[in-house]
Amino acid sequence: MFKIGCHLSITGGYAAMIREAVGIGANVIQFFTRNPRGGTTKALDLSDVEEFNRLAVEYSVGPVLAHAPYTMNPAAAKPDLRDYALSTMTDDLMRLSHIPASMYNFHPGCHVSQGTEIGIGHICGILSRLLEVDSHTVILLETMAGKGTEIGGCFEELEQIIRKCGSPSADKLGVCLDTCHVYDGGYDIAGDLDGVLDEFDSILGLERLRAVHLNDSKFGFSSHKDRHACIGEGLLGMEAIVRIINHPKLRDLPFYLETPNDVPGYGREIALLKSCRK
Ligand code: FE
Ligand code: FE
Ligand code: ZN
Repeated sequence: MFKIGCHLSITGGYAAMIREAVGIGANVIQFFTRNPRGGTTKALDLSDVEEFNRLAVEYSVGPVLAHAPYTMNPAAAKPDLRDYALSTMTDDLMRLSHIPASMYNFHPGCHVSQGTEIGIGHICGILSRLLEVDSHTVILLETMAGKGTEIGGCFEELEQIIRKCGSPSADKLGVCLDTCHVYDGGYDIAGDLDGVLDEFDSILGLERLRAVHLNDSKFGFSSHKDRHACIGEGLLGMEAIVRIINHPKLRDLPFYLETPNDVPGYGREIALLKSCRK
């Protein structure tokens, strides 16, 4: 089955997101666990989450992908910033423990002026603590565009993070491939998708790949800008995107749109992508 959906707002609560997804033909969803900029969030409404779970089963929506706030920095030099990232992520995992078949995606962070190695050490300090939490939620590292001092702009850095955390199984720690980010980061998924997937497999192992953020890119190959475009309207292009959703090594993964769209716009992209599925 083609698992295709998009990022939705949690503002109206959990159950409302499933209804919204069903209304636009989505069978997977992503949402921010909290305001991605502010970081604060209200207490979990357990009856709302129960209704969410009931509707998710009724309409076969899932897996659910929660996205950590992108303003926190697990690679930060300042201990209080790292403490903040750890407590935020621990709280997010507690919330997600109420949702079966959930995954939790985060940006590894920016090393700023510390260098990649120290940054990766900080990330692993936090990740090791998170992996101790008894949780069924799969934690995912997102492939980044390599903008500024971002860590995770190449597969090797993600592999170093995983290895430094003791290489937990792919059911505990996986990778989410963002099509805009990798293309922008210098992996030619438009010209040589097979080659990029082979490289992913040899460095990380394809079993680690658990989700795809499906986005077109406003800027060209290897531009390190990280600007998402609507499907078929960017420089990655429709042809490449159609190959991605149909590729035998990718087609069974859940695809989450993070394109610059309102909800009806997502609905149109989902319909378009379904019509391109072979
Ligand atoms: Fe992201
Ligand atoms: Fe993404
Ligand atoms: Zn992005």
